[in-house]
Amino acid sequence: MQGGGIGMTSQRTRKRLVQRLQEDGITNQAVLEAICNTPRHWFIDEALAHRAYEDIALPIGHNQTISQPFMVAHMTELLLAAGPIDKVLEIGTGSGYQTAILAQLIARVFSVERIQPLQDRAKERLQSLKLRNIVFRWGDGAEGWNALAPYDGIIVTAAAPAIPKALLDQLAINGRLVMPVGDDNNQQLQCVIRDEQGYKQQTLGNVRFVPLLNGAIR
Ligand code: SAH
Repeated sequence: MQGGGIGMTSQRTRKRLVQRLQEDGITNQAVLEAICNTPRHWFIDEALAHRAYEDIALPIGHNQTISQPFMVAHMTELLLAAGPIDKVLEIGTGSGYQTAILAQLIARVFSVERIQPLQDRAKERLQSLKLRNIVFRWGDGAEGWNALAPYDGIIVTAAAPAIPKALLDQLAINGRLVMPVGDDNNQQLQCVIRDEQGYKQQTLGNVRFVPLLNGAIR
């Protein structure tokens, strides 16, 4: 893993990305600050690191992608829209970049990934960033993580035709769930808010994510 501080990986390049996210409508200062502080090039293969601060998704191996920075910021902002939260469940650790952003803003982060080698690499990166408030689980995230429920926030970074029931069940009262819903060609970002009466669902526009897949693999 390389350090940072030079050329395309510099703090200045990151500031430019933050500026662009602001222009595109991200307003939560804490979220923008976390993005400014996080070396996204650490989360990507060295061959692609020079593109790390463009606002695009990039391949991370195993047919998966690191999410677009705008989407990371947007989904995090939605989770925090009603005020600070204490406990978040993330489905789809992937590179660990979204995890790193969450861990700077939320006291306890629980992150589930089905592909073990991806999770192992993400773990190493997050340890080098000294983010110690993350607990990882290797498994099928469609089942959530019931033993530690309920969660104030649930974020899913892979798309499914419907929101898995287990995740809705594990959402705390006043909790928020953010997830892309749809098939390969037509997905909408959904935000679900739970209250004493039940669930309220908001649709927030078209997105494109890799699919939520069944089972866990080594
Ligand atoms: N937030 C990650 C996104 C990675 S892409 C990042 O920015 O790097 C989506 C991730 O979800 C992939 O790593 C994929 O393996 C994982 N995933 C897909 N289906 C899953 C499931 N059922 N349970 C857990 N993780 C899953």
